[in-house]
Amino acid sequence: MPDSNSSSPSTEARQRAASLRSELVRHERLYYQEAKPEISDREFDALMAELVTLEEAHPELRTPDSPTQRVGGAPLEGFEQVEHSPPMQSLDNGYGEEDLRAWNQRLLRLAEEEHLDPEIAERGLEVVCELKVDGVSISLVYENGTLVQAATRGNGRIGDLVTENVRTVRRIPLTLRPGSGRPVPERLVVRGEIFMPRTVFAELNEQRRQAGEPLYVNPRNTTAGTVRLLDSRTVAARRLDAIVYDVASRPLGERHSEHLEILAELGLPVHPAWRRRRGIDEIQSYIDEWAEQRGELDFDTDGVVIKIDRLDQRDLFGQTSKAPRWALAYKFEAEQAQTRLLAIHEQVGRTGALTPVAELEPVFVAGTTVSRATLHNHEDLARKDVRVGDLVIVEKGGDIIPKVVAAVLEQRPPGAEAYVPPSECPRCGERVQRAEGEVALRCVNPLCPAIVSEAIRHFVSRNAMNIEGLGEKLIDQLLEHGLITDYTSLYSLRAEELMGLEGWGELSARNLVAEIDKSRNRGLAPLLHAIGIRFVGERLAGILARHFGSLERLREASLAEEPEELLGVEEVGPKVAASLREFFTDEVQQGRLAELARVGVTTESEAPASDPSEQPLRGKAIVLTGTLEGFSRRDAKELLERLGARVSGSVSKKTDLLLAGESAGSKLEKARQLGVEVQGEEWLRQQARDAGIEPG
Ligand code: AMP
Ligand code: ZN
Repeated sequence: MPDSNSSSPSTEARQRAASLRSELVRHERLYYQEAKPEISDREFDALMAELVTLEEAHPELRTPDSPTQRVGGAPLEGFEQVEHSPPMQSLDNGYGEEDLRAWNQRLLRLAEEEHLDPEIAERGLEVVCELKVDGVSISLVYENGTLVQAATRGNGRIGDLVTENVRTVRRIPLTLRPGSGRPVPERLVVRGEIFMPRTVFAELNEQRRQAGEPLYVNPRNTTAGTVRLLDSRTVAARRLDAIVYDVASRPLGERHSEHLEILAELGLPVHPAWRRRRGIDEIQSYIDEWAEQRGELDFDTDGVVIKIDRLDQRDLFGQTSKAPRWALAYKFEAEQAQTRLLAIHEQVGRTGALTPVAELEPVFVAGTTVSRATLHNHEDLARKDVRVGDLVIVEKGGDIIPKVVAAVLEQRPPGAEAYVPPSECPRCGERVQRAEGEVALRCVNPLCPAIVSEAIRHFVSRNAMNIEGLGEKLIDQLLEHGLITDYTSLYSLRAEELMGLEGWGELSARNLVAEIDKSRNRGLAPLLHAIGIRFVGERLAGILARHFGSLERLREASLAEEPEELLGVEEVGPKVAASLREFFTDEVQQGRLAELARVGVTTESEAPASDPSEQPLRGKAIVLTGTLEGFSRRDAKELLERLGARVSGSVSKKTDLLLAGESAGSKLEKARQLGVEVQGEEWLRQQARDAGIEPG
């Protein structure tokens, strides 16, 4: 029977609401806690919509823990304030190994004064290491298992009550589930961090870009703004996430690690990366590992928090007025900074490609002062719409070259104009053009001094012909005086000619000529890399050299009617094949190759292509993680490469094997998920021995 009166729900409506609620809660748990969703997001939304409609028709059906609380309600006028008990403290920060050691020393001294277990002095303090999530800290209060209050940190003593907003964070349970055999505590206060996942942030910015709205600067600021929005429906749409990392009410155990286990059992989002560690070396290896792997996480981490595990020891160590002594927030080096963009200039590379380069007001990032950063290419620059005069975000990530990530559009100075790419080469004045399907603008003049000079620099560089003592300035000097015209003429250079130049003595001139001379026998692989065939980098040059054994054989294969042999070579696709053919048909290049042969540069491999049976891991894609006992990362990588493996940074479906050391983290997890073979250090040793190499 249909409802006759909206204020008295039928039994049927009551039952439907109850069943929807328990279904939704179950699906939330499957999704967030167990990562095993059974229904699609769409189906979930449909169930949610049905429950919202039901509750709107019959408000008395709404319970405080109903999942509908997650979609947000009517906007608030302002936030109420609440007092934190106990206060939300900040943490002492440490930068670098020295700070870590000082913190550790201080606690060891206190332990000695307090006559704690003498074993501590020998084996180190027992601690828990956790990721320091770069978000907004939050305090949650559960009463009899129901979330009743969520507050921002505020000044640490008093914060804003943002319960409606925090309820929209799906990862935070509205009700706790009883842990294994453990009752839900009557009152539980937990502390944690709310954040915006990087992927969500990127999507949000993409939408804003398309709508022509100013972009947000970083996930942290956006989270802080979102948590304090008065309209919780907007908050719900932003898909924030959270982790918890502390119990602030009565202890539930004797150790912090026990707390983390209990919180997870209760359904609270404890991030699984935490580890128990003992002693400074173990702590340091945890830090090193995450400093390297943090880029793989879907949230920003700015460090590692180290906490004394035993709660009784924490009490002994106590607090200063600002922060507990028993914890240290170890900060990674900042990877991003903001600074002013002073100018954009164009660099002409050896292929003639123009790269826009940002001239910056000097700023300190990740340990060095940065005053220049790349803007990649003109397409990218136009898309980012970075303008001279803008405040920009500079990043120094894994790469050595810093890059401009974005402009802070909210702070664009009036009158800043969009950048117009040049139509002429800044070095030779010839026309620039964009080839079909390419993003780069290129100078079309093969004799452009910028191109010639860059090509020579590449030729002499360490991983190519490795001619020491030939820097940019000297190359330009030689070009200007007409002593060289391209890299081949280096081999005809005479010491007497050099001695005539300003600043050159007999000794330095003879040394340089000797260096150049030595490079004649560098071998085929470095030569293939050095002559600058597009798409043929160091790696591919090595593969081609091994396969073909001589420049002449490679030339024949490249010019063959049907380039089957070429395409059969590992990592050679149509793009590379086309580039090789183009290179070997170009007259200027052919002239240079002939000249190289004439001046006696080796164009053949000294040894025949190496026997593949010596390389047991040939072609295998291997990823390294964790700490190895007997090898440094670099040694392990080198060894793997000698055995023929390709070592890459992150685990994907294409990974053949994960080599995991001690305290492996997310990569190991991922490898297991993907069913990738996992091996340990001993396996590597065995592989090396089998190949007749004495490992480390
Ligand atoms: P800071 O703001 O640099 O003084 O660092 C202290 C803040 O780090 C705390 O107030 C928390 O908001 C935050 N934080 C992030 N992750 C953790 C964690 N795992 N344990 C403790 N605090 C954390
Ligand atoms: Zn030019």
